[in-house]
This record gives sequence, structure tokens and C-alpha cells, in this order.
Amino acid sequence: PLLPYRFTGEVVRGFGRGGKELGCPTANMDDSVIENLPEDLAVGVYYGNACFEGKEYKMAMSIGWNPQYQNEKKTVEIHLIDYFGGDFYGKKLTAVIIGFIREMKSFASLEELKTAIAKDIEIARHGTAEHGKL
Ligand code: ADP
Ligand code: MG
Repeated sequence: PLLPYRFTGEVVRGFGRGGKELGCPTANMDDSVIENLPEDLAVGVYYGNACFEGKEYKMAMSIGWNPQYQNEKKTVEIHLIDYFGGDFYGKKLTAVIIGFIREMKSFASLEELKTAIAKDIEIARHGTAEHGKL
């Protein structure tokens, strides 16, 4: 699809697992965001910017399949880079997806997953991806 793609949504509760335990909390976006997502925006990890409570952050974002809904529904999850405040469930967040980082994949171990996430965040922090599509 033609990026950047911009959306505003509300932060909802996810599974409550994964994110924080991996040292990477992800603000899960509400259904309206998921329903309005361009259909050709592939499942995967993206980078971009997000605005929350008047402050701008770089973000790493994933579009995935939600195991809670038998993988029939997508999830959109945003990690705000260098935000170290508390929880902000129910708050509004505006995001601009700029580019693609990588496809979704399953990892053989938690360590490999953590390494991949750290790399995603580094790419997102610098705002360029080797395979970024603009
Ligand atoms: P959930 O499954 O409910 O999404 P997570 O473990 O992914 O739980 O944690 C997500 C929540 O953590 C967010 O909804 C937000 O309220 C909070 N949070 C704290 N710091 C961040 C951050 N840097 N990026 C995203 N969310 C954060
Ligand atoms: Mg989450």
C-alpha cells in the first residue's frame, strides 16, 4: 500500500502477556483501527511515529493475528520508544506508519524473539529499514 498510513485509535487491553514480560510493552489498538486498516497492509513489523498526550515518539508496530480470536482477527500493537511512564489504557493515540521492517515469524526460543525485538526497535529508532518500503 501507499505509506505513510495514519490512524487514531484507543488503547485497549490485550492478553496482558508477552509485551511487558519481554521488556517491550505494546499498546494494543481498538477494533476501529483494525477494521479500517488497508487490506493490503501485510502482517509484519513496521516503524513510524506516534503521538500520545501531545508528545511524539518513534514507534515499532506489529500487525499480527490475534490468538484470542482463533487468528481470524488482526491485532495492531504499538511500542512507544523511550516512553517509560505508566499504563495508558483507554487513552487516544495517533500513529503514522512509515515503513516495513520485517515479516512476522515464530522464533525457536524466547532469546531469539528478544533479539529480534531489540533489532526492530533499533531500526525503528533510526527510522530506516534495510527493506523498508516507502
Ligand atoms: P497488553 O496485553 O494489555 O497490551 P502489554 O504487556 O503489551 O499488555 O502492555 C501494554 C501496556 O503497557 C500499554 O497498553 C500501555 O498502557 C503500557 N505501556 C507502558 N509503556 C509503554 C510503551 N513504551 N509502549 C507501549 N505501551 C506502554
Ligand atoms: Mg500489548
